[in-house]
Amino acid sequence: MADAELLIGEVSGYLKPQDVEHIREAIEFSCAAHQGQKRQSGDPYISHPIAVARILTTLHLDVQAIIAALLHDVVEDTEVTPEQVAEKFGKPVAELVDGLSKLERIRFETREDADAENFRKMLLAMARDVRVILIKLADRLHNMRTLGAMPHDKCERIARETMEIYAPISNRLGLNDIYHELQDLSFKYLHPNRYAVLSKALKVARGNRREVLGKILDAVRLRLAEQHIQADVTGREKNIYSIYKKMQSKSLAFAEVLDIYGFRVLVDDFASCYVALGVLHGLYKPIPGKFKDYIAIPKVNGYQSLHTTLFGPFGTPIEIQIRTHEMHRIAAAGVASHWLYKSGHFSINDLHKKTHQWLQELLESLSQSSDSSEFLEHLKVDLFPDEVYVFTPKGKILSLPRGATAVDFAYSVHTDIGNHCIAVKVNHEMVPLRTELRNGDRVEIVTAPYAKPNPAWLGYVTTSKARGHIRHFLKTMQSGESAQFGERMLNQALHALGINPQEMDEAHWDKLLKDTGTKSRQDILADIGLGRRLNMVVARQLARVGETVASETAANAVITIQGTEGMAVQFAKCCRPIPGDPIIGVIKSGQGLMVHTHDCPALRKGRGSGEQWLDVIWDKNITRPFDVSIKLVVANQRGVLAKVAAAIAEAESNIENVNFTNEGAYTALHFTLQVNNRLHLANVIRSLRKIPEVMRIIR
Ligand code: MN
Repeated sequence: MADAELLIGEVSGYLKPQDVEHIREAIEFSCAAHQGQKRQSGDPYISHPIAVARILTTLHLDVQAIIAALLHDVVEDTEVTPEQVAEKFGKPVAELVDGLSKLERIRFETREDADAENFRKMLLAMARDVRVILIKLADRLHNMRTLGAMPHDKCERIARETMEIYAPISNRLGLNDIYHELQDLSFKYLHPNRYAVLSKALKVARGNRREVLGKILDAVRLRLAEQHIQADVTGREKNIYSIYKKMQSKSLAFAEVLDIYGFRVLVDDFASCYVALGVLHGLYKPIPGKFKDYIAIPKVNGYQSLHTTLFGPFGTPIEIQIRTHEMHRIAAAGVASHWLYKSGHFSINDLHKKTHQWLQELLESLSQSSDSSEFLEHLKVDLFPDEVYVFTPKGKILSLPRGATAVDFAYSVHTDIGNHCIAVKVNHEMVPLRTELRNGDRVEIVTAPYAKPNPAWLGYVTTSKARGHIRHFLKTMQSGESAQFGERMLNQALHALGINPQEMDEAHWDKLLKDTGTKSRQDILADIGLGRRLNMVVARQLARVGETVASETAANAVITIQGTEGMAVQFAKCCRPIPGDPIIGVIKSGQGLMVHTHDCPALRKGRGSGEQWLDVIWDKNITRPFDVSIKLVVANQRGVLAKVAAAIAEAESNIENVNFTNEGAYTALHFTLQVNNRLHLANVIRSLRKIPEVMRIIR
């Protein structure tokens, strides 16, 4: 195949014979894998990976990258497995192919600028190895060159993605040639009419001026030679999209765009750039205000050059770029310029060093410019990421610090979502809230109105936003809930003393605050709710009733449990009371009220020190679900768990947790279920009894 031979010829120019041999094997391997597949254009599929590899040879990429380019679609589109690639071509190649397959699966959907920026960062972060991005850009470039064969609607989507994502990435990495070609090709498919008109006008304009331009070129070469400056002078085609942008941003007609004729002057060293500039300014007059010194102040992607525009003969404006060969090399290949002009091959560590070195050189060349640190900060995030980029269910992208968990994600979407999250799905699978997120994850938070932040979350959140909101919530809710509950306890104590709580006005409270040295009414109520103060004592102090009132009356005070008190009231894990169960409240200093069932075995052990027991009853209108534990003894038969789960679901209950223990011929299933009340639990048990394998049900 002709293309394959061209590729072999190109790599032979800069790689060792044994590397060329490996590339030959990769061509054969890829050819066999893609056997029978065709591109949209009708060409055999193998033409694509070979073309991608050939684009990379212009950057002199190493043997691993060229092989990975040849194999970049085999894992995604053929029967070949990553293991086979690793076995045949080594782990580094397999990792490059794997990185490319991952990028292949994510797609840019939204149009917002901020999202496009995040998407670009996500791609760079996911790639890790900069060669993955270089191969991806070459892949996209070839797809854009052959886009005409695609159906119209697909063309537009791919062109838009290229314009918004891949062109800016190539620009940021300093790959100017690829950048300009991607821009022009995207422009062609996004605005076919404008592209057609502009490219025709450009052709005509260049044709008309060919003779004049030839004369100018000769004059420039001659003058530089007279001044003993070694220089390569070439004509330069400006890319159509940048002319279009200039017309748009400055509201110019095509004829008014000055710099469509351009020359490039390449010299040997830094000083010659400025000498050449002086010589050319002596040849033709410069247009004032058009001179730019990108050598002293390089562009953020490392581009260095002098730009000036001259009044040529017959009023032809000519833009001239002057730079050294070294600067030109970086201008064309950017981050890849280290492979260019470098023969031989090096290890992954070398590659990292090279990338580092590129950054370092950029930093040094930027040291005079004011925004260098900001730029470096930016680039570090891109190439050596300490952030992760994840999708919301609607396809928006959020950036989070590395190590962030689902709870961090929930809070970064919205405070309410964080405060009410109970579960999370990552890539459509239920995972624990503490799960660390990875680049490209699609994260969906499940919320419930009654859910509240858990103090345990503080152990694994990484964002200050999440931490702050959880702390704030715990603090205010704890005292708020406790105060509300404390107020109910106080009112009941006052009633028990025969006092209407309404009668306790500001004067009563002011006196109480003074006597007790407390700051606010809220604090006292919270103290009662948390069991730090006894409601009867505070009621007496408040009403200034003598100690003589019989304290037994306090026993008549009954607290109603509504299930919405939050942390002020907790339900004991030992007996898991549900609405309808006879219950008793145990109040412990500083811990608020714990609700147990009357027959709780833990309670029977007796009253601990510092505990106060209260009569409590359920409110009639409780709507939230409660956890309840039941034990099922079942015969060991196939499918019994499925039957049990189905029966539970049928009774409209959820399974929160399940454990097994073996008991000889039987198995004990320990369920934690969610039910609304005793009646609901009775329905669940009735439903379970219908299963023949269920021997016993114990709560
Ligand atoms: Mn491809």
